[in-house]
Amino acid sequence: MLIRVIGAGVAGLCAAFEIARAGLARGAAVEIVDAAPAPGLGCSYHAGGMIAPWCEAMQTEPLVAKLGEEALAFWTRDIAVATVAGTLLVARERDRGELIDLAPRAEHCERLGPERVAALEPALAGRFSQALFFAQEAHLEPRAALRALHDRLAGMENVTLRFGAEATAARPRADWTIDCRGFAARDALRELRGVKGEMLVLRSEEIELSRPVRLLHPRHPVYIVPRGGGLFMIGATMIENEERSRVTARSMVELVNSAFAIHPAFAEAEIVETGSDVRPAFPDNLPRISRRGEALYINGLYRHGFLLAPALARRAAQFLFEGHVFPEVMHADQGERRADRDRGADAREAARGAGLW
Ligand SMILES: Cc1cc2nc3c(=O)[nH]c(=O)nc-3n(C[C@H](O)[C@H](O)[C@H](O)COP(=O)(O)OP(=O)(O)OC[C@H]3O[C@@H](n4cnc5c(N)ncnc54)[C@H](O)[C@@H]3O)c2cc1C
Repeated sequence: MLIRVIGAGVAGLCAAFEIARAGLARGAAVEIVDAAPAPGLGCSYHAGGMIAPWCEAMQTEPLVAKLGEEALAFWTRDIAVATVAGTLLVARERDRGELIDLAPRAEHCERLGPERVAALEPALAGRFSQALFFAQEAHLEPRAALRALHDRLAGMENVTLRFGAEATAARPRADWTIDCRGFAARDALRELRGVKGEMLVLRSEEIELSRPVRLLHPRHPVYIVPRGGGLFMIGATMIENEERSRVTARSMVELVNSAFAIHPAFAEAEIVETGSDVRPAFPDNLPRISRRGEALYINGLYRHGFLLAPALARRAAQFLFEGHVFPEVMHADQGERRADRDRGADAREAARGAGLW
């Protein structure tokens, strides 16, 4: 049995890994094909790499947190590249009330006063009198994570990797095709839309952070992910357009201003990189596995690629080899999805009012 995975972004590499390891004993061979010369050069290249299911749950559907919890185990055990240091959500003094309002709705989180904030992140001492801390969350460096995943796949006896190869030309015919082309799959998935995201990487020797810090802000929420070696990824804009690669001056000003609000020393930081891409999203911003004949499309990972890809990959493998169906991700409009949405509505309203995104 040959299973061809098209696309070596986070969705495709995770799918290939889960299918290859479940398929080994069943005699299944996996071939990964990507048009780019190396893995992870699509939208996944620009991700922040926060594995933050409960912090995200305050602003999205409960399904994202449910699937996202699986990513913590995946990125710390299966492909052990993530650091578990938690997520710190802070607010400026004028937005402090919003943070306090959100606290009772957040799961796996504790409210911190100024001493605990300073103990966790000395660089933020005296800057924030309140914070929410999600201690069990993790972060990773997306490019290193995808390299590690690629290397694991390259060492598996039933896996072949092909780069710089158009999927349409791939031969022989596969028994199953797993389409993970991200936004490029819009030719087949008409509902898919792009949500532009811009990011930048700053270098500062003056600031040290041990974990992602997110700023609650009514207009320009921002997160800072420490990359080590004085590098910090600052992200990300959310713009409803499908322009892939143009970074605007307005977006840079907004991101940099929000970074200053977290620490003024970012004013003197060096800009090392700017980047932009479009996140593939369905109208409900939830991921889907769609079946068309002998093809599965894994898509719509939106702003949660690293958070959701492991759970989707596992479900795709269980569908292929055991025939399990997962309605919450395999149907665009069904009961579980609606029920989850209703349960999450109150929390989302609160987050929206607080300008969490
Ligand atoms: C600025 C920014 C910040 C983000 N931050 C985070 C974050 O902190 N955490 C998080 O989880 N997510 C984050 N995301 C979202 C995340 O990056 C996406 O959800 C994820 O990358 C989507 O992955 P994908 O594999 O579906 O698509 P992609 O990464 O785009 O992969 C698709 C692959 O398909 C290949 N391909 C396309 N067409 C063909 C073809 N015809 N033949 C062969 N190959 C083809 C491409 O070359 C590419 O490698 C962020 C996104 C942006 C833009």
